[in-house]
Amino acid sequence: MVPSSHPRAVSLLIREKLVSGFDSGLVAKEGLIAHGRGETFDYLLGEKTTKNAKKAIKAASLALILAKKPVISVNGNIAALCAKEIVQLAKIVGAKIEVNLFYGDKKRKQNIAKLLRKNGAKEILGLDPRSSRRISGLDSPRRVVDKDGIYAADVVLVPLEDGNRTLALARAGKKVITFDLNPLSRTAQTADITIVDNVVRGLRELIKECKNSKNQKIQFDNKKNLSEAIIEIRKNLARRARYA
Ligand code: ATP
Ligand code: MG
Repeated sequence: MVPSSHPRAVSLLIREKLVSGFDSGLVAKEGLIAHGRGETFDYLLGEKTTKNAKKAIKAASLALILAKKPVISVNGNIAALCAKEIVQLAKIVGAKIEVNLFYGDKKRKQNIAKLLRKNGAKEILGLDPRSSRRISGLDSPRRVVDKDGIYAADVVLVPLEDGNRTLALARAGKKVITFDLNPLSRTAQTADITIVDNVVRGLRELIKECKNSKNQKIQFDNKKNLSEAIIEIRKNLARRARYA
């Protein structure tokens, strides 16, 4: 049996959260599949927050702190995995929270909003169709954002986002921060700051960093940092191959 603090056991707990999130109407079927993709890369990365991820977390904390209108976009997977942390982070950096789903569904949106409120969120955007605006370059339901949220934001945190939408946000002039375990995904490659880490681990680190890093500056090169994440996967594979 794997001890409960072991990274493998933690990953299994995260998987269970996703499954119960699906059962309680937060997570889409496609969200379960996306999670599986994430698990693969987490395994390859050693199920830990790497040095490389820490560098991106630091850059993300500064971008959020310095932002004029930061917005955090929440989908079903994020709500199921870290609703409490999202609310905490939003409070620390003064960000708005927008429920924004790839597979739009009114009931699921309401379920997510309810959970966020239960965790202390006061204002939740993305629920009122009268506040809808469209970002260009996307097909119908995928392009809807809130006029007071993502539409007006200068910096957006879009954890576990789809590549087309990330591209549209970047084209709309937003600074995009994402959590994505796959350093090769279009989202990872398009974002300005990609945190290649499990959002469950990485978000906690980001909260710590935001508390600590007011008034600091760093140089950050996303492409270089993504190459380092890929090298980390290669190193892990080589290590495994040696002991196979
Ligand atoms: P893209 O559209 O960016 O090319 P994709 O189509 O493979 O990527 P999506 O379903 O659009 O994937 O987005 C989900 C992304 O989130 C995937 O890259 C997946 O690896 C990643 N992911 C899934 N679960 C987690 C998690 N817990 N933490 C961080 N990243 C995750
Ligand atoms: Mg995609």
